Amino acid sequence: MDVWPHCLKHLEAELAQEDVRTWLKPLQAGLRDGALILFAPNPFVRDEVRQRFLPRIRELARHYGAGAEVTLDVGSPTPARAPLVAAVAGPAASADAFDGNVEPHYTFDNFVEGRSNQLARAAAFAAAQKPGERNHNPVLLYGSTGLGKTHLMHAAGNEMRRLNPAARVLYLRSTTFYEAFFRALQDKTTDQFKRQFQKIDALLIDDIHFFAGKDRTQEEFFHTFNAMFDARQQIIMTCDRYPREVDGLESRLKSRLGWGLSVAIDPPDFETRAQIVLSKAHERGVTLPDEVAQLIAKKMRSNVRELEGAINKLTAQAGFLGRAVTVEFAQETLRDLWRAQQQAISIANIQKAVADYYGLQLKEMLGEKRTRSLARPRQMAMALAKELTEHSLPEIGHDFGGRDHTTVMHAHKKIKALRESDGKLHEDWEKLIRKLSE
Ligand code: ADP
Ligand code: MG
Repeated sequence: MDVWPHCLKHLEAELAQEDVRTWLKPLQAGLRDGALILFAPNPFVRDEVRQRFLPRIRELARHYGAGAEVTLDVGSPTPARAPLVAAVAGPAASADAFDGNVEPHYTFDNFVEGRSNQLARAAAFAAAQKPGERNHNPVLLYGSTGLGKTHLMHAAGNEMRRLNPAARVLYLRSTTFYEAFFRALQDKTTDQFKRQFQKIDALLIDDIHFFAGKDRTQEEFFHTFNAMFDARQQIIMTCDRYPREVDGLESRLKSRLGWGLSVAIDPPDFETRAQIVLSKAHERGVTLPDEVAQLIAKKMRSNVRELEGAINKLTAQAGFLGRAVTVEFAQETLRDLWRAQQQAISIANIQKAVADYYGLQLKEMLGEKRTRSLARPRQMAMALAKELTEHSLPEIGHDFGGRDHTTVMHAHKKIKALRESDGKLHEDWEKLIRKLSE
């Protein structure tokens, strides 16, 4: 597999040294069905490579005989994934040879806890301490993308194996389950497929919303689930929303999923975001000043994966420019990233999203009437505008039908207080932020 080293040599000659060092050197090459596949250390690098370098990489790969198809993925090359569980399928299977795809670097230690994720963390932790116990089986973690569900799931797997090194913990993406089941159907090896799950202690199954609309797979998963549940094997699942809200999941499966502990994971608050930034930078061997961590936390609020992208960019740039990471340097380096974000969230966007969310006419919401059903969404929209955009209070007031800046300030305070005391409103807030940050 020396296509990639050849390509890299070419690219080194063609591109700026920084680009090669930041984006291309970290890629690991592998082969999938004869085609070159490049693994990036994180989605940020993957996306950047896709956008800027992939066409040229394709040309070069073709030139060096790898075929035109080059794919990008996140992670690292793993040997053939035919059996879900290498050790179960192989003849020399033994407990210590068990490879269940649990990622060792996702642990509870490097998971930053905050109000938004502490219940999810506690649920995963409980399952890891006493796998299979009824009050936390299954554990279902749900919430939108990039909030740490997969991280927690692996952390639970690692903790189980720390406490019991012989524990057989299997991590599976729902897509992998689907593909493997599909193959088993074709090869008429479904018995073997089923048996794999009898021999494990815990199943971590990621992103089950993927099963929506795939009836055969759901049915199979339903049986797998029941068998494991009855045998007191621990199951941990993740989903991008509350399963009852996933269209195309069978109702009997939905109800079954809720038997144990279902916990939401929300976007982290400001303090938690700042903590995450510090911790991720530390992992990369960079000590950030608190002000820089706070700046990043203030600007990027929805998704931890994005935070990580920013940190990667910052630490990489600082590294090869040999510069200290100051607030100015961070602003300079991340300007484009933030500009793109800010453009996405305007006052008009917020107004529209809030009106849609509450089923109101935009005109009503911006109008004069002060009935609660209008005033509250109006305040919500003003508060979101204050939080999510860089506009001043007078500017926001202006865009809300010419209101005074004190009205905006009051709305912001009011909503902040209500977020503490009113569960429903808190949920509305979180949902709107998520929607606006997509
Ligand atoms: P999800 O599965 O919810 O989409 P991931 O678990 O893949 O999200 O998290 C995305 C990235 O953010 C991962 O690199 C993960 O380590 C990181 N992350 C998310 N939440 C936290 C946290 N609370 N502390 C540390 N890292 C976190
Ligand atoms: Mg995930």
